[in-house]
Amino acid sequence: MYNVVFLGAPGAGKGTQAAVIAEKMNMAHLASGDLFRKAIERDDDLGRQVKTYLENGQLVPDEVTVNMVLKRIAELDDVTGVILDGFPRTLSQAATLNLALGGHGEKVDRVVYIAVPEAELERRLSDRWVCRGCQATYTSADKEAMESCRKCGGELYQRPDDTPETVKRRLAVYFRETAPLIDYYRQTGTLVEVDGQGEVDGVTARIARAITNR
Ligand code: AMP
Repeated sequence: MYNVVFLGAPGAGKGTQAAVIAEKMNMAHLASGDLFRKAIERDDDLGRQVKTYLENGQLVPDEVTVNMVLKRIAELDDVTGVILDGFPRTLSQAATLNLALGGHGEKVDRVVYIAVPEAELERRLSDRWVCRGCQATYTSADKEAMESCRKCGGELYQRPDDTPETVKRRLAVYFRETAPLIDYYRQTGTLVEVDGQGEVDGVTARIARAITNR
């Protein structure tokens, strides 16, 4: 299986791009944040365990996160590969992922780092509406022009962790805990940096090239 990691700050466009690329390339799209939000909606054991971390913009403990993600990877079927969106987010998660994949003769084949300047990240997150059904994202200008999600008709909402205060904390957590992964993967020779600014389609084209130029 072809294992791809999408790395980037909150608001870099990982989710949007992973959904499009996964569909184009018949890959699975596994978004740790989406899996946590679904568990919270279901109010199951995992959801109750992680709720406060998400509300506060803090990372869920590595062990809980790794167990959930590895279980999902093991369940994958009939796909050419997987895009990990939002995982790993710490050096320890990356090390555990390597070990787990290595146990099956696999590895992280490609890391796509979607680079966006901090001011642009803040602007995007504070103006973000998300579809409850398919997780597509829109701006408030989009929202004014439509009743519900253009892709699936789902209801649009603003994530409770997209408030200015929590956005600041999430970005600080990103720079402290996750940004070191850029150098980590650069050293393994798997990292490709892609400019995440500009039109969505343009970014998609750059990412597709980064993934297929093996
Ligand atoms: P996201 O949708 O990727 O922005 O993730 C939303 C929230 O889920 C984060 O702020 C964390 O609380 C939690 N989360 C998602 N992925 C991870 C991860 N790999 N490690 C720890 N916490 C995570």
